[in-house]
Amino acid sequence: MQNKLLVSVKILFVFLSFALSLQAQNRGSYWQQHVDYTMDVTMDVNTYQYSGTQKLIYTNNSPDTLSKVYYHLYFNAFQPGSEMDVRLQSIRDPDGRMFVDNKSRIASLGKDEMGYLKVSSLEQEGKALSYTEAGTVLEVELLEPIAPGGKTTLQMVFNGQVPVQIRRSGRNNKEGVALSMSQWYPKLAEYDFEGWHADPYIAREFHGVWGDFDVKLTLDKNYIVGGSGYLQNPQEVGHGYEAPGTQAKRVKGKMLTWHFKAPKVHDFMWAADPEYLHDTLEVADGPTLHFLYKNNPAILENWKNLQPKTALAMEFFSKHIGPYPYDQYSVVQGGDGGMEYAMSTLITGERTFGSLVGVMAHEMAHSWFQHILATNEAKHEWMDEGFTTFVSTLCMNEIMEEGKENPFENVYKSYYALANSGQEQPQTTHADRYGANFAYGISAYNKGSIFLSQLGYVIGQDKLMQTIKKYYEDFKFTHPVPNDIKRTAEKVSGLELDWYLTDWTQTTNTIDYAIKEVVADGEKTKIILDRKGLMPMPLDILVVYQDGTRETFYAPLRIMRGEKENPFPDLKRTVLPDWPWAFPTYEFTVDKPISAISGIVIDPSHLMADVNKEDNSYLSPQKPE
Ligand SMILES: [Zn+2]
Repeated sequence: MQNKLLVSVKILFVFLSFALSLQAQNRGSYWQQHVDYTMDVTMDVNTYQYSGTQKLIYTNNSPDTLSKVYYHLYFNAFQPGSEMDVRLQSIRDPDGRMFVDNKSRIASLGKDEMGYLKVSSLEQEGKALSYTEAGTVLEVELLEPIAPGGKTTLQMVFNGQVPVQIRRSGRNNKEGVALSMSQWYPKLAEYDFEGWHADPYIAREFHGVWGDFDVKLTLDKNYIVGGSGYLQNPQEVGHGYEAPGTQAKRVKGKMLTWHFKAPKVHDFMWAADPEYLHDTLEVADGPTLHFLYKNNPAILENWKNLQPKTALAMEFFSKHIGPYPYDQYSVVQGGDGGMEYAMSTLITGERTFGSLVGVMAHEMAHSWFQHILATNEAKHEWMDEGFTTFVSTLCMNEIMEEGKENPFENVYKSYYALANSGQEQPQTTHADRYGANFAYGISAYNKGSIFLSQLGYVIGQDKLMQTIKKYYEDFKFTHPVPNDIKRTAEKVSGLELDWYLTDWTQTTNTIDYAIKEVVADGEKTKIILDRKGLMPMPLDILVVYQDGTRETFYAPLRIMRGEKENPFPDLKRTVLPDWPWAFPTYEFTVDKPISAISGIVIDPSHLMADVNKEDNSYLSPQKPE
C-alpha cells in the first residue's frame, strides 16, 4: 500500500557545477611517512619459490624519533597454526573460500603448499640489524634511531613461497591463474598520528605508506605479467606491451626480466600466467586500460565486452569523484573474488557478464577510496568499502542502464537485517574483531554505503555529490579520518552533522520513527509523530489528499542548525519548526480536514534507514473517490 503514496523520487544526482576550493585542506600539523622501494625478485614458476633484494629508503616526516620499525610478512598467514588459521577455526561463520567441509584449508597445507616470507638479512646503512619474526610481522630494532625529518636506508634479502590460493593471493587459483601476487613482499607498516599500525594479517583490510616503487621481476619468459606499475622495458618484454606495430626484441635465455615503476602508491601487486591474453584500451582523456585474462573460450566474449564498460566506469568515477591520477589501470584475472590494488585489480573471471562488470566497477571505485584517499580501512572500513559500494552502485545503474529508481534498495534491506539481528557492532570496531563475518560485511559495505545515501537525504543530493568531490580534492593522498568527511559535508551544506557521524558510525543506535496519531481538529488535522529509535533524524513527510494533490512537510532537527533545500521542487513544502531531538513526540497541523487526507508517509525517498517502516505511513480508512 505504501507504494501508492510514493512520490516518484528520482535519485537524481544533479551535478551542479560549483567552484571547488582548490586550496588543500589544512588539517593543522598533518604529516605522513614516505617510502621508496627498489626490489629485484626472481620467481621459480615450478617450485613457486622466489627470492629477492629490497632497498627501502624510509623518510620519517613525523615529529617523533623512531627507534623501531615493523614490516608485514603477509604470506606467513598461510601456515597451519597461524593467527589467520586459528581465527578461521574459531569465528562462527568462516569464509567459505577458506573453510571447506568444516575444515580450515590453511590447517591442512603441506610444507610445499603453505606460504612464507622470510628475511635472511637486514641492514641499516650497511650495518646488520637484529629482528624478530612474530607471525606475519617482523619487529626490527634500529641501530640508529630516525630523527624527525630524517631518512634511513634499510636493505634486505628475502625469500618466499607462494601459498596454494586460499585468500586473495596464491598459486593456481580455481580458474587456473598461475600466480596472484598480492601482499607478497616485506612491506613497511604505517606509522601515523596514532602511532604504529603493525596489524597481524588475520582476515582483512590494509593500511600502507605511500612512496615510489621500482620493481624488477625475473621469471620464465613464457609468463605474461600484469598489475601495478608502468612497464619500463616494453620493447624487451613484448607480450602486448610493445609499441603498436613494433616487435619486441627479447634477450636470449629462458628467463625474462620485467621492470616496473609505480609512483605514489602504497602497495604493489602483480599476477602472471603463461596463458594470459592481453588487450589494451585508451580511455579518452584518461588512462590506458589493460586487460589480462585466460585464453578460455568460455569467458572470451564477456572479457571483450567488459572493456568498453571499464572505460565508462573510469569516466564515471573521474567525473563524479575526481580525476584518476595515474596513466594506467589494469583489470587482471586472478585471486578469489575481487580485490583492489594499486593501479589495478585482481578479479575472478568466470562470471555472468553483469557480475563481471559489477566486480570490476566495485574494485575500480576502490582506486579512489582505498588507494588514493586511503583511509585506514582496518579501523574505518565503512569509509572504504561503504563509499566504494555507494559510488559503484550509482555507476552500475548508469553504465549497465539498470534504470533503478532507488538503486540502493537491497543495500538498505541487508542493513535492516543486520540491525534487527542483534549481532550488529559499531562501525568503530576493527575490521578483524567483529563477532561474525556477516556483521562485518553488512556494517562495512551496506551501512557504510548508507552513510552517504542517507547523508544525501539529510543535506540534499546535490550537496552530497559536492561533498564527495570536495572530500576527494581536499584529502587525496592524505589518509582522511571520519571527521574529515563530516567536516566536508558541514562546509558544503552549512549544517551541523556531528550527531550524524556519532550515532551512525560509533553506536548501534537505530532510526525508528512512527506516525503515532492522525487526529481531526475541526477543519484541520493534527499529525503526531513518534521518535521510537535512539538516533534522531530530520523528517520529510508527504501528505496525499483524496483529490490526488500532494504536499510535503519538513521537520528539521534542531541540532542540525539549519535546513536542506526542498528535495521535491515540484511539490509545495512547508518547513515546520525544528524538532528538538530529546522530545519523543512532535506535532504539526495540516490545514485540511481529516476527511480530505488519503495518506501520509514519512520519508517517501526511502533513503532514511528507518528499521521499522510498518508504522511510517497512515492510510485513510476512506477510499478515494
Ligand atoms: Zn570492496
